[in-house]
Amino acid sequence: MSLLDHYAQQLEQLKRTANLRQFQSNLQHGRMIQIHGQRMLNLSSNDYLGLASDVSLREEFFDLTPVTERRMSASSSRLLTGNFPEYEQLETSLSQAFGRAALLFNSGYHMNIGILPALADSKTLILADKLVHASMIDGIRLSSAKAVRYRHNDLAHLARLLEQYHDDAQIERIIVVTESIFSMDGDETDLAALVQLKQRYPKVMLYVDEAHAIGVRGEQGLGCAEQYAVLEQVDFLVGTFGKTLASVGGYLISHPLIRDYLINHMRPLIFSTAQPPLNMAWTRFMFQKMLQMQAQRQHLQQISQELKVQVEAKGYACPSTSQIVPVILGESEKAVQKAQQLQQAGFYIMPVRPPTVPQNSSRLRICLTAQIQSSELAQCVALL
Ligand SMILES: *Cc1c(COP(=O)(O)O)cnc(C)c1O
Repeated sequence: MSLLDHYAQQLEQLKRTANLRQFQSNLQHGRMIQIHGQRMLNLSSNDYLGLASDVSLREEFFDLTPVTERRMSASSSRLLTGNFPEYEQLETSLSQAFGRAALLFNSGYHMNIGILPALADSKTLILADKLVHASMIDGIRLSSAKAVRYRHNDLAHLARLLEQYHDDAQIERIIVVTESIFSMDGDETDLAALVQLKQRYPKVMLYVDEAHAIGVRGEQGLGCAEQYAVLEQVDFLVGTFGKTLASVGGYLISHPLIRDYLINHMRPLIFSTAQPPLNMAWTRFMFQKMLQMQAQRQHLQQISQELKVQVEAKGYACPSTSQIVPVILGESEKAVQKAQQLQQAGFYIMPVRPPTVPQNSSRLRICLTAQIQSSELAQCVALL
């Protein structure tokens, strides 16, 4: 038997259960995506405000940025020679908007697998929502902390765990890890209630990932923490530039002391070449545009609510309170078939299957952007 047979069998198994993943070549033009010659309305994008698909923004940015400043590589970590002015300029813009220190990372994935192991030692307990993103799960695994998961969005369960562990003398600190808007269910944590809970326990710190909320929530688009007025109460406020911000990279907003600590302890920050300075300049340009986009945020919220109501009217469970609207079907087979049918009708919606979501909760995952109109959604829902 060849050594490859083992891997071939695993792939076969995925194929049999309709769980095989493959790359798809695609072409994109504005709101449209083309795959195998089929042109469809893109309803699977994380480009929630439409910034990534807007060519005029790229033109404006490159007009402002001479070729001498278009640096395509940092050539080292920021701790060696990579700390170009673009990093500090972006961190300054973030600090001014959020009101605390900011630190940048190469991606949201790097951020979550790096910060948690740096912060959490064997005297730390991590309490994490059952549905947190894989990057946080990997960060927890890489840390030497004890970790316990609480039921998804169940703050009463979290409160019981806090009661149980808070007075344990072995535990010096407890970090509660959650997302604000969850990437697969499109539902959200009650951040105001979470902050109230934290304030009852002196050992507790909050780690909140706003990957799907930055740009989308709050008057200035700073996320759910802005919307619920708890920007200062979340100890570790993190997010990504790869979604609404139409760029790449991750950020942390926290106390300046934590920033200094991570610069000294966070391995993916220390041992990886920093993002190209050009990307940092682009992120800052995008961030400043995003702050002003109240009208787009409002439109997105409105069509999101409309879609949720329509999906529920069709008899499907829909936990969403955001621009991510899942249609939960159960079997992977069913989700794959339904997605194909919608794609043939011109709506690019992707099926999401285990292990990304729990067994028997395969779903269509509709992601709305501010460029979608109500009438288009009505046509799509009619096909469900
Ligand atoms: C997308 C995502 C990440 C990863 O961010 P990248 O910048 O794409 O690496 C982290 N956390 C959550 C909740 C996400 O949805």
